[in-house]
Amino acid sequence: MRSALFLAALAVLAPTAAHAQANPDWHRAIPGFKIAGNLYYVGTADLAVYLITTPQGNILINSDFKEDVPTIRKSVEGLGFKWADTKILLISHAHGDHDEGVGLIKQQTGAQLMVMDADVAQVESTAPGRPGAKVDRVLHDRDTVELGGAKLTARLTPGHTPGCTTWLMPVTDGARTLNAVIIGSPNVNAGYILVNNRTYPQIAADYVKTFAILKTTPVDLFLGAHGAYFNLKEKLPKMNGGTNPFIDPEGYKAYVAERDQAFEKELAKQRAEAHVSDAPGFDIAWNHVALSVPNIAESIAWYEKMLGFKGTVRGGGTPNARQQVADLRRGNVTIELFQLADAAPLPESRKNPSQDFLTHGVKHFGFEVKNLPAVLAELKAKGVRIAFEMRDTPTEAFAFISDNAGNAIELIEHKPAR
Ligand SMILES: [Zn+2]
Ligand SMILES: [Zn+2]
Repeated sequence: MRSALFLAALAVLAPTAAHAQANPDWHRAIPGFKIAGNLYYVGTADLAVYLITTPQGNILINSDFKEDVPTIRKSVEGLGFKWADTKILLISHAHGDHDEGVGLIKQQTGAQLMVMDADVAQVESTAPGRPGAKVDRVLHDRDTVELGGAKLTARLTPGHTPGCTTWLMPVTDGARTLNAVIIGSPNVNAGYILVNNRTYPQIAADYVKTFAILKTTPVDLFLGAHGAYFNLKEKLPKMNGGTNPFIDPEGYKAYVAERDQAFEKELAKQRAEAHVSDAPGFDIAWNHVALSVPNIAESIAWYEKMLGFKGTVRGGGTPNARQQVADLRRGNVTIELFQLADAAPLPESRKNPSQDFLTHGVKHFGFEVKNLPAVLAELKAKGVRIAFEMRDTPTEAFAFISDNAGNAIELIEHKPAR
C-alpha cells in the first residue's frame, strides 16, 4: 500500500511537455476544415480546436499548448477568418494540451474566457504548465454560451477533471440541423486514483455521472477534445465523399461504451488492490493469554494438577516482591500469570460465564479435548469447580470450569462429521 501511494504521488496526471513530445500528432499542423455549417476544425492532427463562426464574431473551443497557438491561428486565417474576431474562448478541460494557450489567445484577441466552475482554479493557476489566465465567466452545468445566433450548451462531464466539459451545439447544415457533441474526455489517465482519492474523493462517482450523460446525449456529429476519440485520422480523408464521416452516432455509441468499460475495469482493479492492501502484510501465530491471580503459587499448583501445565516463576520468585510473574506451559500453550500486591479480586459476576457475557471484554479461553465426559469426570474427581455444566450438540460438546482464582476456562470437544 505504501508503494502504491508513493507511485500515485509521483504520477503526473496532467499532460506535460514530456508527454507532448511522445505524441507527434499533438503538434503536427493540419489544414483547418469545415465539419458542418458554421463549425470548423482548426486544431492540430490530434489536439482538437473548434471554431464556430457567427456574424458577431467567433467562438474558439480549446487553445492546445502555448506552442500550438500559432498553428491554430494559421488554420483560422487559412479558412478566411480573422483571428481578431475570436470573441469567446472555451475549453474541454483544464489540462495543458487543451488550455495552456488560453492566456496567449486572450492577449492576442481580447476574447472572453469562459470555464466550467470546477476547472476555473486550474485555469487561473500560475503553476508550471498552467495558463494563469483570468476567467471572465464561470460556467455551470447546462449553462449556454450564445453569440450571433450560435448556441452552445456546457454539460459538466466530470472525472477526467472536476470541471471537464462536453459541448453540445445544434449545427445548421443546409436543410438539416445536426447535434454536435464535443466530448470533454471520458478517459482515466495513467496514475489516476479512483479509490480513496484524497484530493478528489468523488472522482469515481463523477465518471459514473459522465457516462450516464454521454450515453443519453443525442448525437449526430461525434467530436471530442482529441482527434483520436473520434478517429479524425481515418475520417478526414473521407470528407470529400458523399456523406459526412463525422456524422457517426454509431461510432459515438461504441466509443462511449468502450470507454465506460475501460473505466469500470480500472475501477474494479483499483478496488481489488485497495482491498488487498488493507490485509496485513505479516503472519501471526498464537502466543499466550495472561491472568492476574491472587496467589501465583496456588495458581501454578492448580494448573499443574488439573490441566497438566508446568509452571515456572520468573527470576525464581522473590516471596515478598510486589510483583511476580510466572509462565505455565503445556505443548504450544502458554499462560502468563501475574501476582500484584493490592490487586482487586475478580468480581463475582466474572466467575459465572453466563453473567460474565453481560460485560464487554475478554471472557474466557478454551481448550480442545478428545472425550469431554471422561475429562469432566476426571476433573470432578480432583475437585474442580464446574462453572457451566456440559452441553451436548451433534457437532460439539462444551463445558466451563473455573480455575482456583475463578477464571472461566472452556473445554470443548468437536465431534467428527458423520
Ligand atoms: Zn486531459
Ligand atoms: Zn487531452
